[in-house]
Amino acid sequence: MMHVNELVLASHNAGKLKELQAMLGDAVKVRSIGEFSSVEPEENGLSFIENALIKARHAARVSGLPALADDSGLAVDALGGAPGIHSARYAGGGGDAANNAKLLEALRAVPDAERGAQFVCALALVRHAEDPLPIICEGLWQGQILHAPRGSNGFGYDPLFWLPEHDCSSAELDAEQKNRLSHRARAMAVLRARLGLADV
Ligand code: IMP
Repeated sequence: MMHVNELVLASHNAGKLKELQAMLGDAVKVRSIGEFSSVEPEENGLSFIENALIKARHAARVSGLPALADDSGLAVDALGGAPGIHSARYAGGGGDAANNAKLLEALRAVPDAERGAQFVCALALVRHAEDPLPIICEGLWQGQILHAPRGSNGFGYDPLFWLPEHDCSSAELDAEQKNRLSHRARAMAVLRARLGLADV
């Protein structure tokens, strides 16, 4: 089993670092890639996992520490998995509202039964830049794409993501509920288990 007590997170997002530190608990100290480099690697993989691995290897290379990276997005069944790894810039940089409008338009003629989708979170952890045996985890969160936005919590595609078991959209969950159920929470639970860390 991989033993890690300090790692660098391949993200400049302070919120992500805080959330991750809370999820990993005190046994692992999480440091920011910003302490070491502001250069971003080219994310030229075709999958969430490939891009998470590219980011993790880059962070390990510039820091000399074990590194963790995440990559996430929305994969819609009727669109062959799009917007997928392009989720953040699906509508070309117009932000969340433009992305959601583009998704609704792409699914305009798609009936309810074919509107299945999943939020995906891939995590990659490497002990060093050339690690041949990274820990790779995925978390999937199953839902359906609505015909119009609902709710105002969360971010990104949350207002269009309907959760049949909860009878609401992910933008109608509060942050605490979402953080228990989400693709990120699921991927992190797998990672904690792979690292031999107790549930937090
Ligand atoms: P990143 O992994 O932080 O770059 O996120 C990629 C993109 O996927 C975000 O910009 C959102 O559009 C979408 N996304 C990822 N996770 C979520 C989520 O929990 N809710 C809504 N959208 C998400």
